[in-house]
Amino acid sequence: MTEQTPAPKLEIRIIPVTPLQQNTSMIWSTQTMEGVFVDPGGEIDKLMQAADHFGVKIVAVWLTHGHLDHVGAAMAVKDRTGCPIIGPHKDDQWLLDEVEASGARYGIRDGKNVTPDRYLDDGDVLELAGNKFGVAHCPGHTPGHVVIYHPEGALAFVGDVLFRGSVGRTDFPRGNHQQLIDSITQKLWPLGDDMRFVPGHGPLSTFGQERQDNPFVADAVTGYNGAEKGEVDLISQRTSKRWS
Ligand SMILES: [Zn+2]
Ligand SMILES: [Zn+2]
Repeated sequence: MTEQTPAPKLEIRIIPVTPLQQNTSMIWSTQTMEGVFVDPGGEIDKLMQAADHFGVKIVAVWLTHGHLDHVGAAMAVKDRTGCPIIGPHKDDQWLLDEVEASGARYGIRDGKNVTPDRYLDDGDVLELAGNKFGVAHCPGHTPGHVVIYHPEGALAFVGDVLFRGSVGRTDFPRGNHQQLIDSITQKLWPLGDDMRFVPGHGPLSTFGQERQDNPFVADAVTGYNGAEKGEVDLISQRTSKRWS
């Protein structure tokens, strides 16, 4: 009797928000219809309309890092739904305290400073309707940046750590380019080449694709040889199930 109850199926929609076209993800279980917003950066009405349209009950906000365009609507989602705000790592609280002040500089005036209900740390596990998500602390773009990934569905929410053909800016206060590159090669690449990722801006890609031709973090540039692969236990439990 080795049969296992399959985890409920997950769906995702990506909703670009703010003038910076930040990718807010709405993930939900089609069985329980419970869902989360990853990085609700703004345009609260547009986000809640999407939830209503698909009949999703928002049960949490997950934040990758403290930048305005990723967190601006987090408090508004909490106000409207009563859900908790989870993440980022506590080292980004100084940014969460600056959302309102920095909004004026970016022409985003409806953002609110954020007080998370819970900070995230490396190795934490998040759950949505029985589906488990891993957490990796990936500093460099900001000191408290985390990446949230779903091993079973091979999908990662990487915020501004990594993009298709690029990496996050490190010219902001407390940014560190080498730390960012180390986060990518040491925390992300071991999750596997077929891990698809939703970046904070722009199109989706896979870690394998970026290891081939990303001018900042291709193996030819970083010298990464895959020796660290296999470090992440969760991957061995991955099934062929994919996101719909
Ligand atoms: Zn950012
Ligand atoms: Zn961003």
